[in-house]
Amino acid sequence: MGEHDFGVFIGRFQPLHAGHEHVVREALAKTKHLIVLIGSANVARDPRNPFTFDERVALFRKVFAYEMAQGRLIVERLDDHLYSDAAWCAEVQRRVKTIVLKVGNDQGFPNCGVADFKIKLTGYGKDASSYYLKMFPEWDNIQIDSQYGTFSSTDVRNRYFQRIPDVPISILSPAVVEWLESFKLSEAFRNLLAEREYLDAYPKQWGKGPFVTADAVVIQSGHILLVERGQLPGKGLLALPGGFVDPAERIRDAAIRELREETGIADAKGQIPPAMLASFIEDSRTRVFDAPTRSLRGRIITHAFLFRLPERRTLFKVKGGDDAAHAHWHRIGDLSPEMFFEDHWSIISQMADL
Ligand code: NAD
Repeated sequence: MGEHDFGVFIGRFQPLHAGHEHVVREALAKTKHLIVLIGSANVARDPRNPFTFDERVALFRKVFAYEMAQGRLIVERLDDHLYSDAAWCAEVQRRVKTIVLKVGNDQGFPNCGVADFKIKLTGYGKDASSYYLKMFPEWDNIQIDSQYGTFSSTDVRNRYFQRIPDVPISILSPAVVEWLESFKLSEAFRNLLAEREYLDAYPKQWGKGPFVTADAVVIQSGHILLVERGQLPGKGLLALPGGFVDPAERIRDAAIRELREETGIADAKGQIPPAMLASFIEDSRTRVFDAPTRSLRGRIITHAFLFRLPERRTLFKVKGGDDAAHAHWHRIGDLSPEMFFEDHWSIISQMADL
């Protein structure tokens, strides 16, 4: 059904710049359809991923309105699975398959299979973070010269998130420049700038780590105990109760201490003593979460402990405290990844088998 009918281009596009646009145009010249998978679609805004999935789609639509309206350029979301490259790879394969079969069907091939189409991957191995390009041996490469290979979205963000933002117009399309200019006036921009300043100052104050932290994944009767962060970084986002391990403390004791300080967890007799909380820990589920990119503050390695509290009709009492603004029980089914600070949703998914 035609020579390499589909191209696939994966990226974060934070934001879309001339290098990405060059790849899109070249790939469109070599394929009938190009599928752009916009990655990290399920993470909360932070200075590395400042723009939401919908905002990034809007930027593609501004720059490639014609190609998208024609149906030649198809833009789709792609979630991160920080602790499972296999799950991420499977999501890429599933998303591509769904699109290919739908387009095939729309073009009059109702019984087609994905093997009936040629699929090729494009992308540019800019640094070690592009390792994922090797994860799809079933797809050939679309070779594209990298005449725009010397700058990245990081350069754009570095210049943009400043008190006096500098929008690098030479490497952005006018529509992207215009959008970034208007985003400067938003509350989201101000929050990102505050976060960026906080993160820039962090290593000067605390060093780069590695730091050791402990987090408590507390489950009771279909609910999980979470705090809303009261301070930067991640002010307003949901997080696991947890924090830094004191020099003279065991990691497990730090998890229990932080849980008590941040949530005041109590039963009818008052605050639950540390030994009783310890008895709820499922030791076989204790896990280290160490993705090097998990925190923008520096290298932070966390140890998560699963506290499975007895099933009851009335949940244990909790309240906010310490550097958490509020502590609340949440129905697990009401939560979604973009509500969470750093990788806390990934930790919950792994620990609670979601
Ligand atoms: P990006 O926007 O930085 O880059 C997208 C593509 O454009 C890359 O191929 C890059 O090499 C290319 N590019 C960048 N600058 C260019 C230039 N100047 N000229 C030509 N090409 C240029 O996106 P990214 O960070 O590479 O995106 C990868 C996505 O995949 C992320 O969302 C990441 O989280 C995700 N991912 C997730 C997992 C997981 O969850 N387990 C694993 C691997 C990748």
